[in-house]
Amino acid sequence: MTTILSRRPQLQHLTAQLDELKQRGTYFHLRVLEDMQNPVCTYDGRRVINLASNNYLGLTSHPKLIEAAVDATHKYGVGSGAVRTIAGTMRIHMELEEKIARFKNVEACVVFQSGFAANAGTVSSILGKEDFILSDELNHASIIDGARLSRAKIKVFRHKDVAHCEELLRELEKEPGRKLIITDGVFSMDGDIGPVDKLADLAERYGAIMMVDDAHASGVLGRNGRGSIDHFGCHGRVDIQVGTLSKAIGALGGYVCGSRDLIDYLYHRARPFLFSTSHPPSVAATCIAAFDLLETEPERIDRLWENTRYFKTELGRSGFNIGGITTPASESPITPIIIGDGGATMSFSRALFDEGVMATGIGFPTVPEGKARIRTIMTSEHTREQLDQALETIERVARKVGVLA
Ligand SMILES: *Cc1c(COP(=O)(O)O)cnc(C)c1O
Repeated sequence: MTTILSRRPQLQHLTAQLDELKQRGTYFHLRVLEDMQNPVCTYDGRRVINLASNNYLGLTSHPKLIEAAVDATHKYGVGSGAVRTIAGTMRIHMELEEKIARFKNVEACVVFQSGFAANAGTVSSILGKEDFILSDELNHASIIDGARLSRAKIKVFRHKDVAHCEELLRELEKEPGRKLIITDGVFSMDGDIGPVDKLADLAERYGAIMMVDDAHASGVLGRNGRGSIDHFGCHGRVDIQVGTLSKAIGALGGYVCGSRDLIDYLYHRARPFLFSTSHPPSVAATCIAAFDLLETEPERIDRLWENTRYFKTELGRSGFNIGGITTPASESPITPIIIGDGGATMSFSRALFDEGVMATGIGFPTVPEGKARIRTIMTSEHTREQLDQALETIERVARKVGVLA
């Protein structure tokens, strides 16, 4: 069957593009994990130190979360059976939303199937074609897609450039449409923190809606991982807070926090909420248990930051370009090793893997052309020995493949 399909001409343009990727050295295959998502695990049959996951707090394999998922499955089954608005809202979905709202200190919360769905579904539904979106140039793809779907006019400001954002707002002052300012709390490819407080000032001054995507900040920044709004003391000043349940929380999903009316509106208008089935009960139960852990095991977050400071300081000392963040008081557990060329980055990543370090190469279109990088992510569960071994390997392999002098 497959051989017959592969000979059909209809999709030949895809094959041509894949050939081009192969020529440029940026073609990849998916590395397959054969055990749990842990600091040391097995991909493609090889034991590696894992510097690539978003499992910041090691919760993907936490016994209490596993138990919560199994218990919920026995009690409520494996699926919810429908979209939320038809028949698929289970008691446990409501419990999770109430828990997140309390944790984030907001009136209400709605959970989506993913962070991607939360962003895209929210941005696309709250604005129309007469409105404006002011978006940081490095904002996540799901924000960009949501902005396009909304048909609002998109104004991109330079990365973290508050003055540029204000300039754009001033140009729009006479426009009757609504304005939405949106930034990532922590930027996923560079690991730096968005100027949430200063953008919130602007939003107030210009009457704009303020939205923050805290996918990489939730469980990481702020008291007990409450996120960038808590980190900046901006409670009550951000209209829309998005978070993910797929990274530090260890399971899957995304959520939006804000006023009761915002959430009620999304119940009625956000298309992923209306047209895609809700989480299995096991996922909701897992997430509830994870938010409990943020309160009862805050030492995980302390360990995450200790590891982050150590790893970032040592990497910077080796002479890598780690994205301008060289101070030991690093901004987040994400540390890019910027190489530039896509092909060189991918072969560096492959060489690292062969030597026992899993650190994913990331190139265009995830990051701009010429900014290809190895992205490393710390977790609370890496031991000092594992970090030292990873650092030694990274430096040695970098010299061998010629990306470090
Ligand atoms: C990962 C990520 C998302 C998407 O979250 P998922 O739950 O994985 O869909 C959204 N925004 C940012 C900034 C992210 O890094």
